[in-house]
Amino acid sequence: MFIPLIVTVGDRRRTAVERTQRACPACGRAGLRLAELRRQFALFFIPLWRWGRRHLLVCDGCGLVLPVESGEAAALLASAARP
Ligand SMILES: [Zn+2]
Repeated sequence: MFIPLIVTVGDRRRTAVERTQRACPACGRAGLRLAELRRQFALFFIPLWRWGRRHLLVCDGCGLVLPVESGEAAALLASAARP
């Protein structure tokens, strides 16, 4: 009997902050979205191991994606947690 082994390695993206105070440098739209990107290893589509967390600023208007340093991401997360 042969059972195919389905192994995937890829990036998992989730939204960390829906709207930040930053504006898009390309189109000027306010409220860039902060996304968290993690590399993951999955077996049969079940994530078993995640590593390499990175943050990105994403503009939903023009699709611009900007990398964010970890210190700046922490500041954006902290400012979003404040009411
Ligand atoms: Zn934009």
